[in-house]
Amino acid sequence: MFNSLSDRLQDTFGKLRGKGRLTEDDINTAMREIRMALLEADVNYRVVKKFVAECKEKCMTAEVLESLSPAQNVVRIVLDQLTELLGTTESKLVLAQNRTPNVIMLVGLQGSGKTTAAAKLAYLLKRQGHSPVLAACDVHRPAAADQLETLGNEIGVKVYRGDGKDAVKVARESIQSAVDGLNDIVIVDTAGRLQIDEQMMQEAVDIKNAVKPDQVLMVVDAMTGQDIVNVVSEFANRVDFDGVIMSKLDGDARGGGALSVREVTGKPIKFVSMGEKPDSLEVFHPDRMAKRILG
Ligand code: GDP
Repeated sequence: MFNSLSDRLQDTFGKLRGKGRLTEDDINTAMREIRMALLEADVNYRVVKKFVAECKEKCMTAEVLESLSPAQNVVRIVLDQLTELLGTTESKLVLAQNRTPNVIMLVGLQGSGKTTAAAKLAYLLKRQGHSPVLAACDVHRPAAADQLETLGNEIGVKVYRGDGKDAVKVARESIQSAVDGLNDIVIVDTAGRLQIDEQMMQEAVDIKNAVKPDQVLMVVDAMTGQDIVNVVSEFANRVDFDGVIMSKLDGDARGGGALSVREVTGKPIKFVSMGEKPDSLEVFHPDRMAKRILG
């Protein structure tokens, strides 16, 4: 992920470093290259426009141009701007202190990595000392509950399946099951479709109204290109969510969607998933990701 973008940016910075003093023309050329690199990485064009305009304004100051190491200052400005684009600070999962169990609901399209993310999140919370339950509310894809059950067995986390028919009922009952089993967190896995679909959205809204989750997280496949903007905007409008789990960051997509999602929705990326194993979910650190991209 981001390999081509990283190469392009490093190339631009390499040229700047070779120049010593920088002119306004040099900055203009560098900004044009950064703009092209971001667009080719599939970053949303509005996001690119704003990003480059802000970088340029910060770089075109006497302080930068006349400094002893102008190229280094330009790199720092782009790094800071990229960190800001990704969310500046790490955004923690907010768990309510006065409610047991806490309820975390996952939404997203089919294939985005929702079911595996549910299990990975359960595993992460278990390692932090919590006692989660997974609620199998994707009742439309019969294999989904089996998949969740298999993953639950693997990580030693209980999976509540209920009647496997009525998603809202399963969600509601899973909370009672957690109360009975002294579990402090319920992670609700919901149904996804291949595309945005009215019935799917309504079911997600109904589950949300029924269980009043403390956190709704949208699982977004980092391999999705430009379409990511429409998908997350639609979910934000219909179901609303508090943050994003970005899955498949280990893939080799260009990564533009991952870079656009925060700016487009205003919602923070809270976790990133870097593989299929249960322990491949990590808290997202914008600064580390920005440094990785810049190489
Ligand atoms: P769902 O339909 O949204 O519940 O998606 P699944 O959880 O079933 O995931 C779809 C596919 O993506 C499965 O084959 C997962 O193993 C795979 N997958 C999920 N997350 C990741 C990830 O972070 N990296 C990789 N490489 N594969 C993933």
